Amino acid sequence: PIVFLSTETQRDKQLMARSMGGDDFLVKNMDPDELVAAVTITAERYRRLRRWMTRDSLTALLNHTNIIEELEQKVARAHKESRLLSYAMVDIDYFKKVNDNHGHAVGDRVIKSLSRLLRATMDDPSAVGRYGGEEFAVILSEQTLMRAAQKMDELRLAFQALTQVDATGMHFNSSVSIGVAHLKDGMSAQQLIDAADRALYQAKAAGRNQVGLAS
Ligand code: GH3
Ligand code: MG
Ligand code: MG
Repeated sequence: PIVFLSTETQRDKQLMARSMGGDDFLVKNMDPDELVAAVTITAERYRRLRRWMTRDSLTALLNHTNIIEELEQKVARAHKESRLLSYAMVDIDYFKKVNDNHGHAVGDRVIKSLSRLLRATMDDPSAVGRYGGEEFAVILSEQTLMRAAQKMDELRLAFQALTQVDATGMHFNSSVSIGVAHLKDGMSAQQLIDAADRALYQAKAAGRNQVGLAS
């Protein structure tokens, strides 16, 4: 954000500065404390707005648009610097049944528990996003396909082990299916996503609660 600090007292000139991208206009000779407060407020408002635009409101993970943007950047860098990159798609199994049997609010809690686990397991917080409803995207930098699959399988087991509790106090467990793909020469971010998606579909078709690897 941009805050103008000037001796300019003419209203139209101040407005012109703001129309050119200024977020605030402060007239000089103000108290130093006041100046610090004004700049702090503007910076904080900008941070909140940015968080709101890039983060999913339920899980605080990167939203669909921003996790894809992150992946595109990481794919470009991986090609340029010949680095390894894997990508995983995580989808909760029979989630419609969770909602039907326990209610939508409990479904939301299950989504949150998975997002917390994802954040705790992955070293890089900008590498996890909520791709869609009950689907999550994970970027695994510097990882071979096998290492990435291992890591995602650990996540699968940890999620399955979580005891979920519904409003009536009933306990249940939930599971995920995961598709993992590895970046190959000349592959675009979209092709990597498609490969992980196909691997996820195979994991679902093979019985769910497992990790599928892209060929
Ligand atoms: P599969 O094992 O094949 O993935 O089956 P599924 O039931 O998980 O998949 P399906 O795509 O049929 O259903 C996903 C459900 O997720 C449907 C939708 O109502 C629910 N859902 C999507 N977003 C949210 C959310 O934010 N909160 C809750 N509670 N449910 C959601
Ligand atoms: Mg599902
Ligand atoms: Mg789904």
